[in-house]
Amino acid sequence: MVSQKETIGIVYNEDYLIHTQGQHPERKERLEHIIRVLDKPAAEGLVNMVDPVPAEFEEIALIHDSEYIKSIDEACRSGKKFLDMDTYIVPGSYRVALLSAGGAITGLRKVMNQNIRKVFALNRPPGHHAERSRAQGFCLFNNIAIAAEVARREYRLSRVAIVDWDVHHGNGTQHSFESDSGVLFISIHQSPAYPGTGQLRETGFGDGEGFTVNIPLPPGCGDVEYELFYSNIIIPVLDQYKPEILLVSAGQDAYRHDPLAGMSLTYNGYYNMAEQLADAAERWAGGKILLCLEGGYHLEGQAGAVKQVLNALGRWELPRGEIGPALKPSRTAESRLEEVFAVQKEYWDL
Ligand SMILES: [Zn+2]
Repeated sequence: MVSQKETIGIVYNEDYLIHTQGQHPERKERLEHIIRVLDKPAAEGLVNMVDPVPAEFEEIALIHDSEYIKSIDEACRSGKKFLDMDTYIVPGSYRVALLSAGGAITGLRKVMNQNIRKVFALNRPPGHHAERSRAQGFCLFNNIAIAAEVARREYRLSRVAIVDWDVHHGNGTQHSFESDSGVLFISIHQSPAYPGTGQLRETGFGDGEGFTVNIPLPPGCGDVEYELFYSNIIIPVLDQYKPEILLVSAGQDAYRHDPLAGMSLTYNGYYNMAEQLADAAERWAGGKILLCLEGGYHLEGQAGAVKQVLNALGRWELPRGEIGPALKPSRTAESRLEEVFAVQKEYWDL
């Protein structure tokens, strides 16, 4: 077990702030708050800033239709303001979206080339709702899915795991890989909630059957409930899959004060999730883990949660801040666990 403090790579570029629209929840202030809480760890040499390289058209096209990619470029040039009810664009958004997907790819290459074992890409716009030919839920290009595909093609990996802890289901990521056993997708999310997908019995198709693991949780779940599902489902499944790299769709909107969701995670809950995933990456992937920013709309809360994730990944031994009550998991969460077992025992030894 590594006990000494580890430097974490942070992918960031000020151009990520160009894509923003007034008081829209997914706005530039989200990143500004995160960057501010990293001041001290940065001064202490605990973070290594990594400048993202914009993604090439061909890299985006690993996941998205060429016509769709061009349509985003054209929509931005035309001065259009919205792609759907809640997904805005500004004239610079296409370029920023290339830089956001490029941030995930740059982070992946850092991790794979052994420069830094652990990287958190603070990239915007987010990606996990973006479908093959449709922007959705504040997302233009599916950053993490693109990084996963680059991991397979460029580094010949045959087992890539994506854990999506954003409070919303990562529909675009699931749909990218649901008939493919080479990418394991695990999502833990609130249900009912946007976008409505990610039900228990969505487990993949054909070669990919069993390699999509959905854990839809009732609103109100906090640290003890998440711990229940990490220790009983997520970690055992990862230990059986033995991923060669672990990717995380890290949205901090299950945080207890998030305005767009109804979960109850505290900073300590985020610390614990990150620690368990980092340990799994240590066991199977030489510690290689790449996190990509997704949602998280309580400005101070999501920034504090990111800091605790980094604290866990790097074993920085910073104070953990708020810690939730050590209650027993709720009865509804316990009965949901039985339902998840019932579905997943067909595929995994749980
Ligand atoms: Zn979200």
